[in-house]
Amino acid sequence: MKTLKFAVLPGDYIGPEVMTVALDVLKAATEPAGLTLDYTEAHVGGAGIDNEGKALPESTIKVCEEADAILFGSIGGPKWENLPPAEQPERAALLPIRKHFSLFANLRPGLLYKELTDASPLKTERIPEGIDMVCVRELTGGIYFGPKRTETLPDGDIQATDEMVYKKSEIERILDVAIATARSRNNKICSVDKANVLTTSVLWRKTAIEYVAKHAPEIELTHMYVDNAAMQMARDPNQFDVIVTENMFGDIISDEMGIVCGSLGMLSSASLGTGKNKYDLPFGLYEPSGGTAPDIAGKGIANPCAQILSAALMLRHSFGEEEIAQKIEKAVKQAVMDGFRTGDISFGKPSIGTKEMAQAIIDRL
Ligand code: NAD
Repeated sequence: MKTLKFAVLPGDYIGPEVMTVALDVLKAATEPAGLTLDYTEAHVGGAGIDNEGKALPESTIKVCEEADAILFGSIGGPKWENLPPAEQPERAALLPIRKHFSLFANLRPGLLYKELTDASPLKTERIPEGIDMVCVRELTGGIYFGPKRTETLPDGDIQATDEMVYKKSEIERILDVAIATARSRNNKICSVDKANVLTTSVLWRKTAIEYVAKHAPEIELTHMYVDNAAMQMARDPNQFDVIVTENMFGDIISDEMGIVCGSLGMLSSASLGTGKNKYDLPFGLYEPSGGTAPDIAGKGIANPCAQILSAALMLRHSFGEEEIAQKIEKAVKQAVMDGFRTGDISFGKPSIGTKEMAQAIIDRL
């Protein structure tokens, strides 16, 4: 019997609410296949600060190190906003956990079901079949992690500098993730850069061309400047299948993709590390794309789908359980198609709560 060992970090506000029901769905989906869940819960974010004095306690890191994957909720909120910036939940937990586990690849499915096109700011005529794409973002390099300095110049002016740095090897390893993703879809990758201005982008594009030609010649590789990609995302998102891009461009483009896909409550994400787990699969952190939604926390009305779909990504990427991952994804889609909706996707029509939504999904597994 296979045991899935993972760390559960629910976090703050709606984090624990959606995590509880996501675990119910995970259990219901895996039990019939003879899989056992072996998970340990740990504090992170505001919960870490309140219970153990810091956003990413050592005990939490240990729990994660002993696991094969991390199922993460979301962290932060008004309660901790007045702490010094370096101690605030997101900065003191999210960046360090990415760094600690070398989570270099961020995958965000941009998925909007046909039934939910009203949730998108785009006109339905532009996306009659909904949206289905994936953004693969490099997560540990580029301008966010390059050398930084602020200095006073001889004339008294003040100058700040952030350097954008990429190594060929860093570009190649994110291309590997994009290639694997494209192979599981339609064999199409659009590499987004700014090669007309940036030296790092010149290397990015050259590496992409050479690497894909050598390792995945069956893939159709195209290139787009980031400013154009931002426009095209708002004009016709379905022209993309898999986007691969560097850290800062991916930060912006993937958020734009999130908004054209409508509700944050539906969007999952995976961050894969350089390390492998005992299945020789990537150790990863799986979390909803949205935040802690303090405005609706405690009311039992948060949409659990993003957390549930994140659990499906964990089954796929860190445990190799593709069939069960798909079973969960289909059940979520079927529940939405059958009219079960939380408030964020009900467009003023009657809605149900977090637990009822999860039950509708369990009933469709
Ligand atoms: P948010 O994503 O929490 O909420 C934005 C809007 O989307 C709100 O109206 C919220 O109710 C709605 N929403 C989000 N998730 C939902 C869900 N599952 N179901 C129904 N509605 C949902 O963004 P925010 O309000 O800007 O941030 C709140 C807190 O979350 C902040 O402290 C922020 O720093 C933090 N945050 C954390 C993460 C993370 O943990 N990775 C990511 C983003 C924001």
